[in-house]
Amino acid sequence: MEKITLNELKINSRSDALAFLKKLWNGESTPCPICGSELELLHKKAKKSDCDWQCRHCEKIVRTLDLLDELNKAFYLMT
Ligand SMILES: [Zn+2]
Repeated sequence: MEKITLNELKINSRSDALAFLKKLWNGESTPCPICGSELELLHKKAKKSDCDWQCRHCEKIVRTLDLLDELNKAFYLMT
């Protein structure tokens, strides 16, 4: 499985991207930004597992901390 990049999320504002990440951190069910299937936790048995999610449909991994990092870099350049 491949990790999803910020570009693939097709979110073009920082606040929308943060809202998406916050939902995942809160453990709320969120649709995959690519195919719309519901994302699942990557490691169901781990205790501090809210960081990484996966889409079984397109076999992508959502690494929220990596996305946050990309987000900070992307929007730093724009502002
Ligand atoms: Zn998907």
